[in-house]
Amino acid sequence: MYRDETKVVNIGNVAIGGGNPIAIQSMTNVKTEDVEACVAQILKLEEAGCEIIRCTVPNEAAAKAIAKIKKQIHIPLVADIHFDYKMAIAAMENGADKIRINPGNIGSIDKVKAVVDVAKERNIPIRVGVNSGSLEKELVAKYNGVTAEGIVESALDKVHIIENLGYDNMVISIKSSDVMMCVKAHELLAGKTVYPLHVGITESGTLTSGNIKSAVGLGIILNQGIGDTIRVSLTGDPVEEIKSAKLILRTLGLRKGGIEVVSCPTCGRTRIDLIGLANKVENMVSGIPLDIKVAVMGCAVNGPGEAKEADIGIAGGDGEGLLIKKGEIVRKMPESELLDALKEELLNWK
Ligand code: SF4
Repeated sequence: MYRDETKVVNIGNVAIGGGNPIAIQSMTNVKTEDVEACVAQILKLEEAGCEIIRCTVPNEAAAKAIAKIKKQIHIPLVADIHFDYKMAIAAMENGADKIRINPGNIGSIDKVKAVVDVAKERNIPIRVGVNSGSLEKELVAKYNGVTAEGIVESALDKVHIIENLGYDNMVISIKSSDVMMCVKAHELLAGKTVYPLHVGITESGTLTSGNIKSAVGLGIILNQGIGDTIRVSLTGDPVEEIKSAKLILRTLGLRKGGIEVVSCPTCGRTRIDLIGLANKVENMVSGIPLDIKVAVMGCAVNGPGEAKEADIGIAGGDGEGLLIKKGEIVRKMPESELLDALKEELLNWK
């Protein structure tokens, strides 16, 4: 499998590539120079399961903030650099664990070399990122439009620039908001490089469209053994990105652990607020470190049967509810007590 054979790259204390677990990333959406807000957001993301965080570094103040932020967080921090090579250097000097650049945006080879020299000296990995939206005109002309082939060629050109400067501590990311183009580009790239891949669907959209596009795109790519770290991009709270990333990995069998909540779609038999209850259960279990399945079912007629495959479940009735273990009803109670009863069972789970 490609993933098992990629080079191992250490981002702070997180190793990716070479068959290491696929690391989950997200990006802050507050100003990096607002240290307090940035740290608060990162700590929330850590709690949700984020393993690598990226912050934009558009100016000197943001670069300097990295040193302060790093003292208060526990996961590696990646500095996202757009155009200014000096910011890449400043970010590394302030403790960034990885930098993300597009050498095509940095300018002359001297500037790229200045960045690579500092990365080399400190052994800081560089993520080379290219995006379908910024594909070079020559490649658009060569391939008759924006294509997967063009994106891959662009990425490999950038990788070669850095290799020619004597550095190979790299991660590659290629992105397109066209999901199937993104899939094809990853398939092509995996056959042509040994570097670990950061996989994500860019500009994927708000919660619903972003989750669907990411699940389809990442699902196809990851299931082929491609991809070493992922980010689900959503227009929304980054904590949602982490929840989605974990669910995608768990669904593909690429990650174990955490409570899986299954719930019925509701139907004419439902007599309780199952949608509200399922959401409350999902939030309640997110911090409980068990590797089990919890069912939330709408009725007492089919609920226990349908919940058989779950380790524990609750089912609604008419004004009352049932606690179910492995398909057997163990207790009846008023509907209002269901959530607390389930929580108590989970906290005392043996
Ligand atoms: S568990 Fe009951 S309420 Fe839920 S879909 Fe099945 S029959 Fe309907």
